[in-house]
Amino acid sequence: MTEIKGEGEVKEVITSRGRVFRSLAVIIATGIKVLFNERDYLGRGLEVTNMGYESIVSHLKKVLSKRWEPRLVIIGSEKVKNLIPLTQGLNRNGSPLLFVIEGEGEDSGNVIRGWVERYWGNGTLRGITVKTKKEVKKIRCGKALLDFNSYELSPAWRMAIETDEMDSSFIQVNPDMETSIPGLFAAGDATCGGYNSFARAVAQGMAAGLSAYRYVYHKKFGAYPPLFAYRPTDFTLRSNFRELPPFQKDLLPKSLVDARKIETLLGKKWSILSRTLHGKISIEEITKRGPYHPEELREVLERLVEKKMITFHLEVKG
Ligand SMILES: Cc1cc2nc3c(=O)[nH]c(=O)nc-3n(C[C@H](O)[C@H](O)[C@H](O)COP(=O)(O)OP(=O)(O)OC[C@H]3O[C@@H](n4cnc5c(N)ncnc54)[C@H](O)[C@@H]3O)c2cc1C
Repeated sequence: MTEIKGEGEVKEVITSRGRVFRSLAVIIATGIKVLFNERDYLGRGLEVTNMGYESIVSHLKKVLSKRWEPRLVIIGSEKVKNLIPLTQGLNRNGSPLLFVIEGEGEDSGNVIRGWVERYWGNGTLRGITVKTKKEVKKIRCGKALLDFNSYELSPAWRMAIETDEMDSSFIQVNPDMETSIPGLFAAGDATCGGYNSFARAVAQGMAAGLSAYRYVYHKKFGAYPPLFAYRPTDFTLRSNFRELPPFQKDLLPKSLVDARKIETLLGKKWSILSRTLHGKISIEEITKRGPYHPEELREVLERLVEKKMITFHLEVKG
């Protein structure tokens, strides 16, 4: 993903290949950086800063105890600058050094700006591909060090969010993982505050998912979903209670499965209906076209929702 247009009622997520995904809600879970094939070369020429600050120093001493040809590359965000004096001070064997700062900006000396898009070699790392403002560069190296600490201070998501609301490097969220923009949610390391960890990312992801579901459900049905066990509802339970609220007649039923599956479930009588469930005809229009009775149609649509065979699209203005 390279861009999110999040201000309108319908959000747009645009990919690097130009594909556009439109939805009522978007969850941003981009961590602290875009990852490519780091895994292929981890421990095979690619090293990362980890295990604490003292360990970063001893790790760097070990890496710099030999000379790397044609160079040692150190990759990070803007904050990789914190590591430059230490690296240069420890570089007693005179390895040619190149610092790659991920993001926009001007090159200077042995610092270039751009985005690392590939680590390559033949089982052992031989180089990296960096996309700069002007060109795609293939840079050969004997060793590469990825400074995760720098991304933790200043993330590099390579993604534009079209809004004035998010000026911090990390995304502000409330306990329900809502950002200040309705329909836009965020979870994990991309968000402000707390302690970065798998447990936090998973918990926040779960909360963001449920919140996005609540948000979209409310948009479609004008009521919040009952979320027993996740979010209690304080009300008197009656014998005629139904989970699903009445369907508004402007909802556009959209099949999530092959039409034949719906026909098999409902029988021949409903074959006309199965062909109209493409998200473009409203419940009102389906009723008008016949031959189904509104109550009967509602019951059938409810059954299909419960079986997760249909969803509803909305006509959104603007
Ligand atoms: C060196 C290190 C050691 C750690 N050790 C531990 C540990 O022992 N225990 C622990 O609990 N936590 C540890 N953590 C923290 C833990 O890894 C993170 O908190 C957790 O992975 C965050 O999960 P996430 O889903 O928010 O982000 P991530 O796991 O980083 O996932 C984000 C994903 O989004 C993708 N992405 C980013 N930008 C874009 C874009 N524009 N388009 C498409 N995709 C994009 C990335 O490629 C990535 O795949 C460690 C972190 C580091 C850096």
